Amino acid sequence: MTFGKNKSWQAAELKPVGSRLKNALFSNWCVTWTSPQNPVYNYQAYTASQYFLFGGRLRSLRLSDLYDYSTFISTIVLHVASLPLYIIFEAKYTWTHISPAIIFIFCYLWCLSAVCFVRAAFQDPGLLPRNIHLVDNVVRNGLPIEYFNNPIVDGPKSKVELKYCTTCYIWRPVRSSHCSSCNACIMNMDHHCPFLANCVGQRNYWHFLCFLTFIVLLCALVCAQTAYRISQQNIADTPMTLFLLIYAALCVMFPASLLFTHLCFGLTGITTREYLTTDKVDGHFFLKDVCLNPFNSGNLFANWLRQWLRPRGLSTLPLRQRFSTTDTRFQEYVIGSLT
Ligand SMILES: [Zn+2]
Ligand SMILES: [Zn+2]
Repeated sequence: MTFGKNKSWQAAELKPVGSRLKNALFSNWCVTWTSPQNPVYNYQAYTASQYFLFGGRLRSLRLSDLYDYSTFISTIVLHVASLPLYIIFEAKYTWTHISPAIIFIFCYLWCLSAVCFVRAAFQDPGLLPRNIHLVDNVVRNGLPIEYFNNPIVDGPKSKVELKYCTTCYIWRPVRSSHCSSCNACIMNMDHHCPFLANCVGQRNYWHFLCFLTFIVLLCALVCAQTAYRISQQNIADTPMTLFLLIYAALCVMFPASLLFTHLCFGLTGITTREYLTTDKVDGHFFLKDVCLNPFNSGNLFANWLRQWLRPRGLSTLPLRQRFSTTDTRFQEYVIGSLT
């Protein structure tokens, strides 16, 4: 496309080698918070609503103030704190009175849940590129009325509706949706998760489910071990064991209920967003819209397999490739401004 751009990138300035190295390592490589004047890689030009870590390898949502990060930070603090608390107060008793294997299983589950959290929270959930379906005429004259009519196409079982995103300027693939928090369209969007500060979509749904599963197993292990110790000792002598039991019991509730909910959604082949936006079938809390959902194969197990084990697929945004000033996916346009 050859239309004019509202945001122009200038040629890179020549800087001393030391300055460029410092800038590359500490400003752009470790954390890229705001878009540098002369982006070298795509992620540096894509910092609206996002920030990037370690040369674009990890990304997360850039929120406006610390309060917005409270749920995300709480999740990290609760998870990180569980490891030293358990090791300091329970490892010795467990090692000598129950089995050393319990400690190894605890550490293994803790590491797995940490890895799944990082992958679910900091990786691309299925971001769709911007400005793919934007032509010269639209940039000059604004969106034609036809773009607001949603065409109907054939789905797996019945017709499905396609929508044009008037923020990203793309025709969204089926089951994709625009997330106002992430300011992007997300492929196969399930929901925006404040605990991850990220959307849950095509490319991180599996890690989100694994994170929930490992957290539930971890909490169940701690509950069982601490309950056993309390049953064997005087409760007044083990206040931290009681604290850990309450800690694990409280922490398991929300992930367990969420995991159960997603198990039900998987069986009926529906996403959280679809569940919240479709009409309810009387008397069926989880089976609402089950007859109308075009992605319900009719086989609960096949639905579950397809939803939980679907391939992540490739990222549609090559964020770590070199930036090109002619790449419209990383430009910003004001529609109807070029008259
Ligand atoms: Zn969008
Ligand atoms: Zn989002």
